[in-house]
This record gives sequence, structure tokens and C-alpha cells, in this order.
Amino acid sequence: MSQFLVAIDGPAGSGKSSVSKQVARELGFGYLDTGAAYRALAWAVQHLEDFELEQLPSKDLVAEFDYQISLNPDDYWVRVGENDLTAAIRTSAVAESVSAVARIPEVRTFMKALTRKLVSESTLPGVVVEGRDITTVVAPDAEIKILLTASEEVRLKRRSAELSEATAASVKRQVSERDASDSKVVDFMTPAPGVQLVDSSDLNFEQTVSAVVSLIEQSGSTKESK
Ligand code: C5P
Repeated sequence: MSQFLVAIDGPAGSGKSSVSKQVARELGFGYLDTGAAYRALAWAVQHLEDFELEQLPSKDLVAEFDYQISLNPDDYWVRVGENDLTAAIRTSAVAESVSAVARIPEVRTFMKALTRKLVSESTLPGVVVEGRDITTVVAPDAEIKILLTASEEVRLKRRSAELSEATAASVKRQVSERDASDSKVVDFMTPAPGVQLVDSSDLNFEQTVSAVVSLIEQSGSTKESK
């Protein structure tokens, strides 16, 4: 991967998607939401023939999962084959089934290669890549590695504001239970060595974006100077 990489991990509701998108805009970088691919695969299990959960470990996902995503922070879309899934992957049904897909080791191996391929195909000077295992597994050599957290109370509040259809109970299920399940597979609650912690519990959106941009600027490691 030759571009300047900003790797951002964090739990559900930490604000990492909207923050990563804005950081990408400010830097003129691409934005890659890696959770979208796990969600799109969970959608495929629910809607497409030949995508049974039990079959995923032996499936040739490189050949059969026709996944495309936009890295443009101002024009975000997700597709599987002819299906535009930009909205469909945000439903509760997908959120509640995605961890089962994400815990399959063969799926994670596929996603790691897919993410690296998408980054390497970008012609922009850098990419902000966000997910759960980007700082540790997918891009441990990224120029900047950040774990973006917030207290559980703040994360639940942020998610409730986003999900108009959801009741408090279902938000809790979607955030806390999904994190508990996901963190059995990847530890995204404690920063690995070399990963900088940004706790956004007491920061608003603009302050969080500024904190991340400052870390990037402070690092002094620009693509030109490398
Ligand atoms: O970030 P988002 O909430 O869209 O991620 C959806 C799901 O995808 C997570 O709950 C997790 O199960 C999985 N995921 C993952 N590793 C990543 C990104 C997402 O396991 N790098």
C-alpha cells in the first residue's frame, strides 16, 4: 500500500464513520468504510441464493461476492452486483446479523485482502480506513493509527439519534450486544502499541475531527517527506 494511510478503529456509535469521512474531506483523501463489506455480506446471506451462512467458510468469495464501494466521502454508495445497498445495509436486520458473518475466520481473511485491494486501487494521495481491526490486522503499518472511543452512554445516545425507527431497547441491542459479540473476535476497545487513543465522550463532532486532523499534522509524516 503506497498511499498515506490513516487507520481508525472503534466501537459502534463512536462516531468513527462521520469523523473519518470529514477527515478525508479535509485532507483530500479517500474514505473507506470497511464495516460496509461485512454488512453487505450479511445482506447477501439474507437475500441472495447460494449465500448460506454455513457455506461462507468454503465459498470462493473473491469470485462470487461482487462487491463495490465508493471511496468518495461526498458520494458514498455500496453495491453487490446490480443491487444498490447503500441504505439496505443500515437496517436493524443487517445490524443484528452482521457479527455472525464477521466472526468467520475465512470471511475475515477475505475482507483483509479486499480492503487492501480497494486501498491500492485508489488514485488519491491517501485513504482514511475505518473499522475494527484496521490498526491491528489490516494496516498495522499505517502512518497514523487511531482508536476512537466514547463512553457507552454517549455512544447509545448518538446511535438513538441516528436510528429513528429504533426503540431504546433495540439501540442497546444493536450497539452493546454487537460490540460484545464483535470484541470476542477483535479487541477494538484497548489501543494496541503505536495506536493513539481519541476519547470523544466530551468532544463534539468538530472537536473530534480537529483532534484527529491534529494528530495527523503532528505526526509530520506526509507522503512527500517519506
Ligand atoms: O462499522 P460498522 O458498524 O458498519 O461494522 C459492521 C460490523 O462489521 C461490525 O459490527 C463488525 O461485526 C464488522 N466489522 C469487522 N471488522 C471491521 C469492520 C467491521 O468485524 N474492520
